[in-house]
Amino acid sequence: MPTSPATTSARAESPVAAPAAATASGFAYAAAPEATDHIRLRDRYPLFIGGGFEPPAAGVHHPTLNPATEEPLAEVAEADAADVDRAVRAARRAFSSWSRLPGARRARYLFRLARLVQERSRELAVVESLDGGKPIREARDVDIPLAAQHLFYHAGWADKLPLAFAGARARPLGVCAQVIPWNFPLLMLAWKVAPALATGNTVVLKPAETTPLTAMLFAEICQQAELPGGVVNILTGGPPAGRALVRHPDIDKVAFTGSTAVGKEIQRTLAGRGTRLTLELGGKAAHVVFDDAPLDQAVEGVVTGIYFNQGHVCCAGSRLLLQESIAEPFLRRLRARVGRLRVGNPLDKNTDVGAINSREQLERIQALVDSGVAQGAQLFQPACELPTRGYWFRPSLFTEVAPAHRIAREEIFGPVLAVMTFRTPAEAVERANNTRYGLSAGVWTTTGQRILWMAQRMRAGVVWANTYNRFDPAAPFGGFRESGFGREGGPQGLAAYVALR
Ligand code: NAD
Repeated sequence: MPTSPATTSARAESPVAAPAAATASGFAYAAAPEATDHIRLRDRYPLFIGGGFEPPAAGVHHPTLNPATEEPLAEVAEADAADVDRAVRAARRAFSSWSRLPGARRARYLFRLARLVQERSRELAVVESLDGGKPIREARDVDIPLAAQHLFYHAGWADKLPLAFAGARARPLGVCAQVIPWNFPLLMLAWKVAPALATGNTVVLKPAETTPLTAMLFAEICQQAELPGGVVNILTGGPPAGRALVRHPDIDKVAFTGSTAVGKEIQRTLAGRGTRLTLELGGKAAHVVFDDAPLDQAVEGVVTGIYFNQGHVCCAGSRLLLQESIAEPFLRRLRARVGRLRVGNPLDKNTDVGAINSREQLERIQALVDSGVAQGAQLFQPACELPTRGYWFRPSLFTEVAPAHRIAREEIFGPVLAVMTFRTPAEAVERANNTRYGLSAGVWTTTGQRILWMAQRMRAGVVWANTYNRFDPAAPFGGFRESGFGREGGPQGLAAYVALR
């Protein structure tokens, strides 16, 4: 439980225990919990191989916990090398017919998957929130609709590949191994599965060990859609399952989203094998606010940029760069806004900041925040009460941060913002680029020319202007440097799944 003292004390509130809590503005929020009586989880989930649910070879299962309560939700199978081999063989068998299907037939399956995700969206949103700790509002309004959008978007491409790759013949690669993290479980699944299937590949996907449940519901959706067996295979398990999958000799492509350290390990594993690879890794994005920005809107953008999904976002705007002349008024507004964020029960529709995904992640966040305090940065945390069970961290911001501090250099992957200042646009660019990552960045200014000037100079795969954390399946997403390589989304994302002749 975080105990660091707040440098400025905001109103204390009881986000979960109290049925209604007064805010600084005097409004009271009644609890508005999302219903869970429509959720029917199995006690135990097997693996999804060849179109059917199959027990793991070694018979090992692990519980998956609700991070807001630490209660087990269900048990999921732990795949081992024998299971990986079965799944890869199933995907290989399915590839010969799936890759020969006319694009319009593959599109039909993808449309069906997209519509079923929409039909089951309430169930998927609640399970995503229960298993991962994210606020139901975000699961309901962002994760699940965007996952459906990715499936729809790629369904649209499936019969138009000659238009995406004019003058060349695009052939599928074969069997794709896909390994995803826990921050956007169903959305990352859709980012991986949709372009692979649209281009005629088959997949073996491994969700993260702490958030496997929506992937297992997606396995049910594949059955409902009557997707041919083996086109999608889903193996649950931890790092050993992921390692066995990317090392399997009969895979043609690896698509990985996760930490930079694991991405590097996968790159070393695949070196010299000729297996295609895309890596979507970590980030330490700069969010730059100029003195001509609309301050209230920029405060909202900065809050979304770092506290959305508890900061468990690879492209989170975790380094705020404020032009010196507006730093004080901006910080005053920002602290007041952070003090009004509602932390607590993820299933409450009023909640802004939910539970931290796991005890391990909570410990990582706390260790980095402790390092910030020890290195002399000034910590602000609102004095909100936290629930007594589960994994929680107050939305936090650091001022008096030096570029050499760990909190300014390392990805925290939690609700922690490091604030620094700059004087000139050139200095803003220099500070923004002072990172080994290069995934995303944000700029707030009313000067259009300055947006373009900054976007050309900031080394980031995505630059948002006067907004933040906007995603669209038609817009390619991906990084530079230690944020990885390859793009997901748009025609560029399709290119990662084909060989051109
Ligand atoms: P992680 O690398 O520990 O795990 C990611 C996945 O890889 C999990 O499924 C895990 O079981 C598996 N895995 C772990 N070790 C493996 C190994 N040696 N071989 C194969 N698979 C292995 O990362 P995490 O902590 O779960 O996720 C957070 C990280 O993901 C952050 O660094 C974040 O920035 C990054 N991320 C990046 C993007 C992006 O698009 N760039 C999106 C989301 C998350």
